[in-house]
Amino acid sequence: MTRTWIGLGSNQGDRAGQIATALREVDALERSRVVRVSSLYETAPIGKTDQPFFLNAVAEVETDKDPRGLLRDLLAIEQRMGRSRGVRWGPRTIDLDILIFGDVAEVSDDLTIPHPRLAERAFVLVPLVEIAPDVLVPSEERTPAQLLETLSREAGDAVRAGDAPWPDRREATCRGRTT
Ligand code: ATP
Ligand code: CA
Ligand code: CA
Repeated sequence: MTRTWIGLGSNQGDRAGQIATALREVDALERSRVVRVSSLYETAPIGKTDQPFFLNAVAEVETDKDPRGLLRDLLAIEQRMGRSRGVRWGPRTIDLDILIFGDVAEVSDDLTIPHPRLAERAFVLVPLVEIAPDVLVPSEERTPAQLLETLSREAGDAVRAGDAPWPDRREATCRGRTT
């Protein structure tokens, strides 16, 4: 099993509902399981600024898939959820990015891991620090907490906007429930 962190973002329609739906879809992928999810964060759009604010979250996922297989499945979930690709960084119902995939560091035309813009984005680093402050980010050789510390103010802010749209399974286990 590999431990991977996936970034989720939405700025069209029922943003929180779509993030919750995407998490269920990821959890339903074979040989994959959502382990932990950050709170929801509201963030201003970056790159193309004349569009609605985003809700963002980061999920920790355990998977037996390889990076390409996981990417293919994430793109298929985006498709099913009505994602259309228009202008770069334009509005979307759901965006699913592979941020970290175990200790993999690879660059190719259609897949770069860790995500190439991870270290410059508050909307990624703030939720990532919430659930994985000390994991080593391959090729950066630093942790999310260290990366966030050196992030410039121009990178924007991520404001906590709600609880994780996912049951906390660790807590559920402690209470002896099975759900
Ligand atoms: P950004 O990559 O800056 O966050 P975006 O998420 O809006 O922009 P998309 O249109 O969703 O970009 O994705 C374009 C392509 O990026 C995907 O089809 C995929 O092949 C490629 N890609 C490369 N690396 C990754 C990665 N780590 N996670 C997800 N997609 C990736
Ligand atoms: Ca993205
Ligand atoms: Ca994407």
